[in-house]
Amino acid sequence: MAEEFDIVIIGSGMGGLVCADVLGREGYKVCVLEKNRQLGGSLQTYVRDKVIFDSGVHYLGGLSEGQNLYQVFKYLGIIDKLKLQKMDEDVFDKILIEGDEKTYLFAQGYENFIQHLLKDFPDEEKALRLYCDKIKEVCSKFPLYNLRTGGNIDEKNAVLGIDTRTFIESITGNKKLQAVLVGNSMLYVLQSGKTPFYVHAMILNSYIESSWKCIDGGSDIGKFMAKNIREHGGVIHRNTEVKRIVVEDGKVSYVETADGSKVHGKNFISNMHPVRTLDMTESNLIKQAYKHRVKSLENSIGGFVVNIVFEKNTYPYIKNNFYYIKDGQEWNLTEYNDETWPSCYAVFCSASSKSPDYAESMTLLAYMKFDEVKQWAGTFNTVSKEEDRGKDYEAFKKIKAEKLLSLVEERFPGVRKAIKSYYTATPLSYRDYIGNDDGSMYGIAKDYSNPLKTFISPRTKIPNLYLTGQNLNLHGILGATMSGLVTSVAFLGSEDIIEKIRNA
Ligand SMILES: Cc1cc2nc3c(=O)[nH]c(=O)nc-3n(C[C@H](O)[C@H](O)[C@H](O)COP(=O)(O)OP(=O)(O)OC[C@H]3O[C@@H](n4cnc5c(N)ncnc54)[C@H](O)[C@@H]3O)c2cc1C
Repeated sequence: MAEEFDIVIIGSGMGGLVCADVLGREGYKVCVLEKNRQLGGSLQTYVRDKVIFDSGVHYLGGLSEGQNLYQVFKYLGIIDKLKLQKMDEDVFDKILIEGDEKTYLFAQGYENFIQHLLKDFPDEEKALRLYCDKIKEVCSKFPLYNLRTGGNIDEKNAVLGIDTRTFIESITGNKKLQAVLVGNSMLYVLQSGKTPFYVHAMILNSYIESSWKCIDGGSDIGKFMAKNIREHGGVIHRNTEVKRIVVEDGKVSYVETADGSKVHGKNFISNMHPVRTLDMTESNLIKQAYKHRVKSLENSIGGFVVNIVFEKNTYPYIKNNFYYIKDGQEWNLTEYNDETWPSCYAVFCSASSKSPDYAESMTLLAYMKFDEVKQWAGTFNTVSKEEDRGKDYEAFKKIKAEKLLSLVEERFPGVRKAIKSYYTATPLSYRDYIGNDDGSMYGIAKDYSNPLKTFISPRTKIPNLYLTGQNLNLHGILGATMSGLVTSVAFLGSEDIIEKIRNA
């Protein structure tokens, strides 16, 4: 490609697309290079038995008028185009605990949230109020999260070092309430003694503020942004994998793709995992110490997914999600073994325009360590490059799926009977589609004990190479959107776009 772009963006995940859309609007000629056939990274959907499945968007928070994600989507002109379904005000997530027949409800709106939990924990009003106040206080310290300009690091520093477990144990001695408050921790892969409270707070806050499902899947978010990017003169190349980031005279001059083409640009933004970005960048400007630091950071655990297609009109559509945790393991869910797996699971029904009353499908999500699939790590399988991982792998997935289904059936009687077919995905599927090393769901795990170590800057030592995506600040659609904005602000050297978004 002979043309030189203002900005070449490697990867079309949420962070990459936000950068491309925002910076295209600012007049820059952008080019997005995506290795997959479908755009969007974890926004991608896929169809099995004529039913649409999400790969990484089961629900979204902060989408009511004036809230943070709403305002960004409004600025990008996509909020009115998306087919959104508000989840029930009185329950977006139900928490299930092994051996306890009750279901604990997480409701939208802070007072509503407190009142619902008070029904099960009538003596815990003080703790619940402290919990909600702390979430709001912590979230208020992050300017961008509130689409506010002019913040500084001191503001955040005051809250970055709060440990989720220590804080929750400090507000209540009630073990059941503690377990319930971290009941949907699969949303952020809680690790005891590691996960900062700000991660918990920003995610919970967005869903308590408002919770939404995308009808017929979340890939529309990416499709509408791609349309915007093209309308602003940008170009998008799918099936184009970047293999090398070539540095000459102290800056990146081009990237080389799998077919040997060179794409030249004045600036480059990588939406790939930072480790992959560093591996592809040959330059002594990036110090070994920095590479070691980034490579030493732990990624969050991977996921095992069972996507179920139901026989028509057999299983009712359930608008809320469910999170199940094994009794007493709420702080150690990632530390399972063969006998104790699955330590937890999540259940999501997809919203379908074709079948509003009956669920067309159900997604089950459990944790899965990369080590469990390591023996097949040498295989690669996506729709663009299909490779059979072999019979052993299929047998392994079947055993896991059946074990997970048996546990789910205990709390969801009738699920098995309604199944028409099911399809599974492991950390290897995520690794191959997303392009990281270990199929991690949410990328670099944050650490309260050394918060700045696990923050990745959007800038690199190479002046025209930037980073974006879930590994920077926070994961999730909201988190990756914020990362896209952080990178755009770093690139522009001005917070004017935040003002524009706030006033959209
Ligand atoms: C199972 C699961 C469920 C989830 N559920 C939710 C949810 O309900 N709600 C929510 O808000 N979030 C959810 N998330 C998280 C959310 O989807 C992600 O945090 C977010 O989409 C990540 O965006 P990103 O910008 O980091 O890009 P990614 O999605 O990581 O995409 C990176 C892109 O870069 C491309 N790429 C990589 N290498 C190359 C290369 N060499 N050349 C060209 N392109 C390349 C990839 O193909 C990909 O398109 C979920 C995630 C998972 C895994």
